[in-house]
Amino acid sequence: MPSPAKDYFVEGDLVGVMTTQPFDRVLDYRAPEGGCHTGAFVEVPLGPRKVIGVVWGPGRGDFDRAKIRQVIRVLDVAPMRAEMQAFLHRAADYTLTPMPAMLRLATRAPGLANPPSMQKIYRAGQGTPDRMTDARKRVLAVLEDFGGLAFTLGELSQQAGVTTSVVKGLVKQGAVLEEDTPRDLPYPRLDPDRPGKALTDDQAAAADSLRAGIAGGDYGTTLLRGVTGSGKTEVYLEAVAETLRQQRQALVLLPEIALTSEFLTRIEARFGARPAEWHSGVTMTERRRTWKMVGEGGCQVVVGARSALFLPFQNLGLIVVDEEHDTSYKQEDGVLYNARDMAVLRASICGAQVVLASATPSLESWANAEAGKYKRLDLTARFGAAVMPDMRAIDMRAETLPASRWISPSLQSAVNARIAKGEQALLFINRRGYAPVTLCRACGHQIGCDHCDARMVEHRFQKRLVCHQCGETKPIPTVCPACQAEDRLAAVGPGVERLTEEAQALFPQAKIATLSSDLFGSARALKDQIREIAEGDTDIVIGTQLVAKGHNFHRLTLVGVIDADLGLQGSDLRAAERTFQLMRQVAGRAGRSDKPGTALLQTFQPEHPVIRAILSGDEEGFWRAEADERRQAGVPPFGRMAGIILSSPDAQEVFDFATELARRDAPVRAVGAQVFGPAPAPIARIRGRHRVRLLVKAPKGVALQGAVAQWVGQLKPPSNLRLNVDIDPQSF
Ligand code: ADP
Ligand code: ZN
Repeated sequence: MPSPAKDYFVEGDLVGVMTTQPFDRVLDYRAPEGGCHTGAFVEVPLGPRKVIGVVWGPGRGDFDRAKIRQVIRVLDVAPMRAEMQAFLHRAADYTLTPMPAMLRLATRAPGLANPPSMQKIYRAGQGTPDRMTDARKRVLAVLEDFGGLAFTLGELSQQAGVTTSVVKGLVKQGAVLEEDTPRDLPYPRLDPDRPGKALTDDQAAAADSLRAGIAGGDYGTTLLRGVTGSGKTEVYLEAVAETLRQQRQALVLLPEIALTSEFLTRIEARFGARPAEWHSGVTMTERRRTWKMVGEGGCQVVVGARSALFLPFQNLGLIVVDEEHDTSYKQEDGVLYNARDMAVLRASICGAQVVLASATPSLESWANAEAGKYKRLDLTARFGAAVMPDMRAIDMRAETLPASRWISPSLQSAVNARIAKGEQALLFINRRGYAPVTLCRACGHQIGCDHCDARMVEHRFQKRLVCHQCGETKPIPTVCPACQAEDRLAAVGPGVERLTEEAQALFPQAKIATLSSDLFGSARALKDQIREIAEGDTDIVIGTQLVAKGHNFHRLTLVGVIDADLGLQGSDLRAAERTFQLMRQVAGRAGRSDKPGTALLQTFQPEHPVIRAILSGDEEGFWRAEADERRQAGVPPFGRMAGIILSSPDAQEVFDFATELARRDAPVRAVGAQVFGPAPAPIARIRGRHRVRLLVKAPKGVALQGAVAQWVGQLKPPSNLRLNVDIDPQSF
């Protein structure tokens, strides 16, 4: 691969074009008439098709000239900047991903090649309305405030807080002009100098530090740590404000799109306009607009999911990674990357600041702060009268419970006490569905997925068994598929739906709401439900992991964790960290306003060091102990790891190939790394493909990627065998 060139006019009659198609080289084309610049987005012929590509530099000219085809046209979008090319190269090298797959992430603009469709826009007109109402005044005030800026009908009515018919009425009177323009309008400007909230001393000190970093104009990463409710968001919004003052763009990454609506409202309250959103729930037209406007500077702030990192920012000054420890930042499909790490890479290339915010940072970020690579800011107290919840264990060995019951008498009475006071309780279980296992009482058979090495999970709400790996569903049988015994199949273990059933029986007067990602058809339905819980008269919320993240339920004062031991089983070396983070996050939902909260953890092992650390809240102590263990084991963040996942429909073939690969480990041994396996991957079969994993462990500071590339490059996999390299795997 040639290295990325600067933004210059490409001399000569040939250009080298990188496409998103799987060729491992830049292809030569005849330059378009009038030439073009490096980074230009072009449409080129490829075989019988037309594809989109990016001019990567001059052509190489080492190909039969007669066969070289002509660039069809240059697209009407801002050229890819040299720093974006550099970022894609570095990210490809780091994740061992072929460039075309990387480029695909950066060209996800729907309809990029089409001319924009037309839409109606609205701006201030000359006429005066016959009758002035409050609603009409608000519309005109918005148009005046934003001096001449055009709005879509939706934006204008939303900004003014009126129905669209008010705007239409003003159009009839000539007070508002309606015009046809192409879509892809700039977004309303955000105003950094509107007064924000008055910050506490701690918050102000943290905000000053972030502002100083941004004013410096260089790269830097800050770990912003603070208990839930300490005001991390308020603080990093000040960093966003400073970025806007510097005329640069800001990107805020959030792990859960269901959270964005509350968040967008907060941004609007602070800056007077809504930012752009970027995630799978946004319409194609809107995404195209965002992509174009980010590139042309008509969009100052994007709030998005991890893929927003690949938007063509013109002048990116700040990336905030909120809840930086969240595992959903790791993309586990296609290109395997961790958005948190890629954010740091991207910022280091374009001279931007990164803020990693969390109440329970990842061990990686904690270690980077300890090592002085990241700056660390701590907010130690909750804002206002809110205090951290009192955390206690319920020792399940001392509780008497009937079979197939999970809410202990102690938890039950605690819930009753809260409801009696008009407060809200949350029961947390990290399991979707009704029951994780469907077991035949006659022969012991457990119903599994036909395509995966996974049990089918009963979802009573859908009246089906569901595979959480591949999504396959089947009816709940009445006859055992193994021994044909009738009516002997039993649901074993609790899921969120079953817990709801139990709670309904235990608390018949209570209003209960269940939150689980699969119970809602759409993100909107989920958002509505969350709003209903926050504002309505729900007594008990029953939820999965979804509720652990950032919602503010102001009346919520009790959190009951049904099975605090759940995450501690298994051999994963990150289990302790994950459990610690999840439990502290869930507990943090309690007592966010003036009423103090309590978190009760049902556990069979209250003496377990992780449970004890969770209860004591001694995060520094937990980190140090966890760091010591990892250091001793030589695993991340104190060593490097890569997973090689091999999969094939043929179990023998994939195992043989993996064994042969493991035998030829000289290239990785040469850099001091070790290969473990082959062993069945954490899920040994998905969608009918057998999966085997090799793990590579290397000392820190080793050039792992080069060695791994050389190692796996020795053998050509059989045609139906897939090989995926996972640098920094989530589990090991
Ligand atoms: P975190 O992001 O750390 O969980 P938030 O920024 O969401 O905390 O703050 C928690 C709550 O306290 C929010 O409702 C927020 O508006 C409020 N809050 C935090 N700091 C202030 C402040 N200085 N003035 C007014 N309200 C604040
Ligand atoms: Zn399956």
